[in-house]
Amino acid sequence: MTAYTPMIQQYLAVKADYKDAFLFFRLGDFYEMFFEDAINASQELEITLTSREGGTEDRIPMCGVPYHSAANYIEQLVAKGYKVAICEQTEDPKQAKGVVRREVVQLITPGTVMDGKGLTDKENNYIASVTAFDDTTYGLAYNDISTGESRVTLLTNFDEVLNELAVLDAKEVVVASNFDGELQKKMRERDVLAISFEDNSSIEMNFANLLEDLNQDKLKQTAARLFHYLYRSQKRSLDHLQPVTTYQIHQFMKIDYYSKRNLELTETIRSKGKKGSLLWLLDETMTAMGGRTLKHWIDRPLIDREQIEHRHSLVEVLMNHYFERQELREKLKEVYDLERLAGRVAFGNVNARDLVQLKYSLLQVPFLKEILLNMQDSRVNEIAEKLDPCEEVTDLLEQAIVENPPLSLKEGNIIQDGYNEQLDQYRDASRNGKTWIAQLEREEREKTGIKSLKVGYNRVFGYYIEVTRANLHLLEEGRYERKQTLTNAERFITPELKEKEALILQAEEKIGELEYELFTEIRETVKEYIPRLQALAKTVSGLDVLQCFAQVSENRRYVKPQFSSERRVVVKDGRHPVVEKVLNTQEYVPNDCFMDSDREVLLITGPNMSGKSTYMRQIALTSILAQIGCYVPASEAVLPIFDQVFTRIGAADDLISGQSTFMVEMLEAKNAIANATQNSLILFDEIGRGTSTYDGMALAQAIIEYIHTRIGAKTLFSTHYHELTVLEEELSKLKNIHVSAIEHNGKVVFLHKIKEGPADKSYGIHVAQLAELPAELIARANEILTAFEQQPGGPGEVKEQRVAVAAPAAVQESKAAEADQVVPDHLTQLSFFDEPKETKKPELS
Ligand code: ADP
Repeated sequence: MTAYTPMIQQYLAVKADYKDAFLFFRLGDFYEMFFEDAINASQELEITLTSREGGTEDRIPMCGVPYHSAANYIEQLVAKGYKVAICEQTEDPKQAKGVVRREVVQLITPGTVMDGKGLTDKENNYIASVTAFDDTTYGLAYNDISTGESRVTLLTNFDEVLNELAVLDAKEVVVASNFDGELQKKMRERDVLAISFEDNSSIEMNFANLLEDLNQDKLKQTAARLFHYLYRSQKRSLDHLQPVTTYQIHQFMKIDYYSKRNLELTETIRSKGKKGSLLWLLDETMTAMGGRTLKHWIDRPLIDREQIEHRHSLVEVLMNHYFERQELREKLKEVYDLERLAGRVAFGNVNARDLVQLKYSLLQVPFLKEILLNMQDSRVNEIAEKLDPCEEVTDLLEQAIVENPPLSLKEGNIIQDGYNEQLDQYRDASRNGKTWIAQLEREEREKTGIKSLKVGYNRVFGYYIEVTRANLHLLEEGRYERKQTLTNAERFITPELKEKEALILQAEEKIGELEYELFTEIRETVKEYIPRLQALAKTVSGLDVLQCFAQVSENRRYVKPQFSSERRVVVKDGRHPVVEKVLNTQEYVPNDCFMDSDREVLLITGPNMSGKSTYMRQIALTSILAQIGCYVPASEAVLPIFDQVFTRIGAADDLISGQSTFMVEMLEAKNAIANATQNSLILFDEIGRGTSTYDGMALAQAIIEYIHTRIGAKTLFSTHYHELTVLEEELSKLKNIHVSAIEHNGKVVFLHKIKEGPADKSYGIHVAQLAELPAELIARANEILTAFEQQPGGPGEVKEQRVAVAAPAAVQESKAAEADQVVPDHLTQLSFFDEPKETKKPELS
């Protein structure tokens, strides 16, 4: 190593501490990377790989990015899951003896992005830490460094950990270095971009205050691991971090990862984007903070009736005050991202424009308050009272910062006149100097008679008098000192000009320095208000989501749900909120749903594409909407408070873990069966279709019986096994329903209408008939069907039967229209025409 030049030795010493990061090593106006880093970065960033002398025989691979455009490259790397360590010169090169001292000033990682494109306004960027205490105790803490919020909880199995990580969409997870490799792999499968290691999880003083509210050592250890990592990587003030709060997953409606995906709560399965999701439908929030809170609420529906009803009653008041609500929306629109602004103040990367945004946001608060008070409702008043306008901050910013400051903090023009006496004096000097120069130009023109004479300024020569070549003879000898010669003109200075120039430039330099100093002071003052700003942000976000609920509920004609303590579901004219929006409202066929203690399981039959899964999802989404505090798409709704929702709905083939569809189906079924209670909601769509007919049907029946008799959860079970409809006779709490279809002008028309009773079993043959298969074939199919119906034996005998039946039978009329009356009285073993369907879901665009 000694063969390397001192600078490369310095590089290697720093790099040794940041093996898992790209080291951006500051050299002049560039960040350079060397060795492996250079090779990798040149590929990832598509920049040129070069090399340089480093003292040894071989040249050292090198690549670099300009300092001023580094942010963009850093973002690219971080988005790919890499870490970037920023290494700056930390002493003045003029004073350095030998190599300038350099240190890493910040480690930027996927979970600790503070600004730039890596942050989406309406989404949090979470970093989590996981501590495995034993097989049944896992600590999970998470933080959004841009907003400062942190939470921690204890979980009893690793699935729950994965579930939380997926819900949070955590970009990075911090674990102990001996953390199980298999579990790390599982976390990566849930889209965790980076796993980082932090062993020093003892509790240190510098953030002890953040852990104050935690009463358990395990919680403390987990949160401490996270903070250790944050402080170690960020290396700066993190005064905006809020004390950690605890939560427990059973305080909320539990919806596992698969079900969330299946129900497309916050993103769609196909595009993985927000569009087409429940979040997309609901998002009428006016602020970025409100948008994040909305997502948070959707991710964690409530189960406490009082809390839910409190939200409903606030939505009600807001709905009853249309004009006030529109005013409220107007004002909320003017509120910037207070949470992230507060974060930047603490972080030290806030600029003057941010502070102007902060001021404007705070100026809206009194209006918000007034609008709320005008509604004259005690519950709304409570919110109004919590709105803290932080007047001291507004006053300070109004006096101190100009209306349109530049982005840069080093160029001046940030601080208002009259805010600081010294600054005013410098500015006077500078402004007077400039007036003096304008004056000088006039005088010189008069004196010399040269109309085109002008006084100008450039960085190299400072102020000068410029005279065109043709006029040079008019200048008085000896008074003008030649400075620069151009093609057509000469530039001069005079002693007076020089003297004034010194004064002006000195004043300007001082102005720059002083403005920066004053700005830092102001920032430090604002910093003291961070907890108040964060509290304000919280109230404003909640208010924003509530007005959003009111807005959507009104626009889409939702009703306030009532809650039943007898576990009754009575939904009249229910709609699927998203499908209804995508289709025209007029086209959507509303459906009722009725369930009580005699109707725990609804077995849904009906042709493919008739609307079975839409109906099932509609019930789940209605319950979720109700429990996040929103109104629901129905004309009347009574609902139980569900503790958990489980779904097995097609389409969500498990792409990540590479498991077979059928295995995923069984895992999801197991998950529901193992965890559901009487108070849960289970949606099973065509369970069992992933295997052979008998196998699948047998499983489906066994699952239904188990849920019916052992669990008693409210269950919607759709199936193409028509044979299962006879279960109604044996299982007292199971009822058949179906989705009807009719024939119209030779076409099957799906009415999307849910009706009592099983679907018509000969539906498949009817479709074949419409498809104009030969009449003889259709006749034969009907004949076989009839034979099956009369056949009491098992599968083996059916086979024989197929060969045996030969006598012709009459073509059966369509029964789809009067399907309500068709109730088969014994099992038909095979369903030839209702093949397991292709999972086609409507494309929402
Ligand atoms: P299935 O599960 O029976 O195969 P889906 O629930 O997937 O059927 O619905 C099929 C199509 O019918 C969807 O594209 C949906 O847009 C439409 N649809 C479903 N329910 C309704 C309804 N109540 N009103 C109008 N269109 C509906």
